[in-house]
Parts: sequence; structure tokens; C-alpha cells
Amino acid sequence: MIGCYFTNLENIAICELRKTQKSIKAAVAWINFNHYGCVLEELLNRGVKIKILLNNDGINQRYINHIQYLNRKGADIRLVSFVGIMHHKFCIIDKHICMFGSFNWTHNANIRNIEDLNICDEVEFVNNYLLEFKALWNLSKEDIQLLTHPSCCSICGRPIINILFMEPEGDYQTKIDVLQQCSCEQKLVYTDYYDASVYNNYLATIHQFEDDILAVYQSGDEVTYQQIVAQQDFVVANYLSLVRTNRMGMPIIHAVGVKSWKWFDKHDGEFIYKIIWKERGTSSYIEDEYEIM
Ligand SMILES: [Zn+2]
Repeated sequence: MIGCYFTNLENIAICELRKTQKSIKAAVAWINFNHYGCVLEELLNRGVKIKILLNNDGINQRYINHIQYLNRKGADIRLVSFVGIMHHKFCIIDKHICMFGSFNWTHNANIRNIEDLNICDEVEFVNNYLLEFKALWNLSKEDIQLLTHPSCCSICGRPIINILFMEPEGDYQTKIDVLQQCSCEQKLVYTDYYDASVYNNYLATIHQFEDDILAVYQSGDEVTYQQIVAQQDFVVANYLSLVRTNRMGMPIIHAVGVKSWKWFDKHDGEFIYKIIWKERGTSSYIEDEYEIM
């Protein structure tokens, strides 16, 4: 152990970061890039490899321009959605020192909150953090891979996608089914029950953007339209990550569908799955509606 600190944490963290020779692997829930962007850029200019996992939420999204800028300069900084909040605050420097504790790399954590920051160089200890980092890093990479490159059905050749289908059951429950679907087959791969608020909140999450999206779409303002859709994606993705209770047990969700009635003509129709949300990066292979087989 090198030390435990309770005050002046930002300066200590930045001083430690400045000592880096080769690599930084950090999983930190929140980072204020106005404060830490400079030191990270400095490290990149010296050839230090930077991998950072951040919690995917609005707080970190505010620095998306900073993040993209650093990534263009060679960093690999990712906003990741796990079950609940990725709440870690650790950073492994050059594979042999680990900073950890309650301290987020934010202004509030530095000036307002009561926090601790510890620095450790014990091999076994640091290795455990390295393993944890690797697990999180690969998990998120795998998710991205699964989302953007779904496996294809050996019979029909179409991508196999998982549609989350949510419906109220009785007054108190939300039933969630995950349907795995290609063009030739549909099967239920996961079912779970939550309380009724899950469905109600979910619809509210989607619907809060609907009027805006429609209005901007009709106005023809493409840029604003894309911004609102991106915002909706982000909020929905966050909400979905909360719904997934057990990320290992539940498959990755490519889209969300609701059962809705589709009229063929005045007299005839059928129930279909209407897709109301698609995960980012998946729209090229997900249809807008699917037949219920
Ligand atoms: Zn098929």
C-alpha cells in the first residue's frame, strides 16, 4: 500500500496520472473532462495507451465531444451500459499501481463530497483489478459485436435478432418476453415478470419524445430530428439496462416491439409486432414490423 487520502484528491489523482509511462486502464463511473481532459491528452502525446470505461449516462454524455476528441487522438474511451450503474472508481497505471476508492473524477467529488482515494502497488491486489477491468472491457466489446453483427440463421440467412416484448399482466405485473426471430423461425428465449411500473415507465420513456419527434420531422429540420432521436435512443437504452436484471441470463436486446393490430382493409387485419425502438447501429437489419407466427 502506498497511501490513503481524504483531501486534495483531484490533485493527487492528476499527479499520479502524470507519472504514467505506458498505460492506463480505468473504470470510473463519472469523469469531468474539463478537469481531466488535459492530463489525458498530455499522456496520449507521450504515447501512453488509454482505456477508460465510463457509465453511459447523461452526466458523461455532456463530455461526448471531449471523449471523441481524445479517441481520435488514440484513446479508447467507452460509455458502457451494464445492469445498473457501472459504479467503479479505479484506475490501473502501468499495470502495477492501482488508484481506487469512492472518489469519482468529478468536481463535486473533489470539493463537496466526503471521499477517499487509495493508491496500492501490491501485485495480487492490482492483478485483481486488472482482471475486473478485462472482464468489463470484453463484455462491452462483445455486446457491441453482438449488436452490430448478429449471427445469421443457417436456413433463411437472415440475422437472428432478439426482440423484447413487454406487456402489462393484470394490475400489478409487467411480463417480459424475449423473442428470438429470423425470417423462418420465432422462439421464446426468455420470460420474466416485473412490477407494473416497468411497463408504464417504459412507455412513458418512449412517449415523452414522440410529440417532439413528429413536430421536428414535419418541419424538415434534419439535424434537430437526429438529435432528438439520439436523445430518445439514449434514454431508452438507459432504461432498458435497468430492466435487465441479470445480464448474463438475458440475451442482448436488438429491438423492442409491442403487439399491435394492423388493418389490411376495412374488415380484416391481424396482430403484429410493431417495433417501437431499435438499438443503435442495428436499424439496417431490423424491420419495422414482424409477423406473429
Ligand atoms: Zn431463419
